[in-house]
Amino acid sequence: MHESNVYVNETQLYLLSYIILRFLFCSIYLLCCLKYTHISIIYNEVSYLENLSNINVIKSLLAKHNFSFSKALGQNFLINPSVCPKIAEMGNARKGFGIIEIGTGVGVLTNELAKRADRVVAVEIDERLLPVLAETLSEYSNVKIINADIMKVDLKKLIADEFSGLEVAVCANLPYYLTSPIIMSLLEQRLPIHSITVMVQKEAGVRLCTGMGARDMGAVTVAVNYFSSPKILFNVSRGSFMPSPNVDSCVVRFDIKDKTPDGVSDEKWFFKVARGAFSQRRKTLVNSVSSALGIPKENAAKAAQAASLLPNVRPEQLSMEQFIVFSEELKKLSLM
Ligand code: SAM
Repeated sequence: MHESNVYVNETQLYLLSYIILRFLFCSIYLLCCLKYTHISIIYNEVSYLENLSNINVIKSLLAKHNFSFSKALGQNFLINPSVCPKIAEMGNARKGFGIIEIGTGVGVLTNELAKRADRVVAVEIDERLLPVLAETLSEYSNVKIINADIMKVDLKKLIADEFSGLEVAVCANLPYYLTSPIIMSLLEQRLPIHSITVMVQKEAGVRLCTGMGARDMGAVTVAVNYFSSPKILFNVSRGSFMPSPNVDSCVVRFDIKDKTPDGVSDEKWFFKVARGAFSQRRKTLVNSVSSALGIPKENAAKAAQAASLLPNVRPEQLSMEQFIVFSEELKKLSLM
């Protein structure tokens, strides 16, 4: 009786071995699956970040972070993979350079800048993008993000603190609502920078890069030509952005001059006169300047005469030299 209790027949032994083997086989299979999934997750993560200008990647990234575009902040993100490498290369992102970027979006241009330049400091106003950037730029130790309004950042200090020993350039796909203020401010501060390479609305690019005396020039044209040699680099279609804007764009570069034109005794006054001159389209120089600056019309007329200008000359007809002489004469008369 006792013997029959411990007795295990051959069939039961086979069954037991089969169960054990099956268990071992399934465990090995499961372990392999887990390892493969892990590898594929890592692989997807890498390729996912390499495709930052891919519309589906941006969409899933933004959905993951619950992000919605702000029209007010000019958020049109680049989705054309050929554009950012070109901006970076033509914008002097290379060894020996530190780059200031304005407005990172998800970091598509920042990535290309960081690959090429020694250091990148990017200023982004929208704090909702910070967790996105922590993900997309995690592999770069040479990138710093500053969450601020570019118009309120002390760029002279930033350059001194962050880019010691490096040449500095600005590269950006600008928020279009701030195009002129940003460019005017970068130029008028006389920052120690080599170039400014920016994506702007196509019409703005034409106006910025036109020479003095052109019909569609504005106050910003005076500043751009005073401080730099401007150039349109290439056009970018509206379909290269998400969401797609109603206008086409272009990339422009301003190479900062070593020496500005002679004869300006007070740059602040000079640009005040330039802004006043273009404040009312289709008005004469004398009328625009006197009403914008609150100067007696006869003083503006005298300054025009001293600069050998006709009384009914329009601001867009002046050369740089004539603008300089006019503003200097106006200053003398305003001090009297
Ligand atoms: N560089 C990204 C790209 O090419 O996809 C985004 C470019 S998007 C046209 C402009 C970016 O500038 C947005 O990320 C927006 O939040 C940011 N921005 C808008 N106003 C700003 C300001 N005053 N200071 C700093 N960044 C600003």
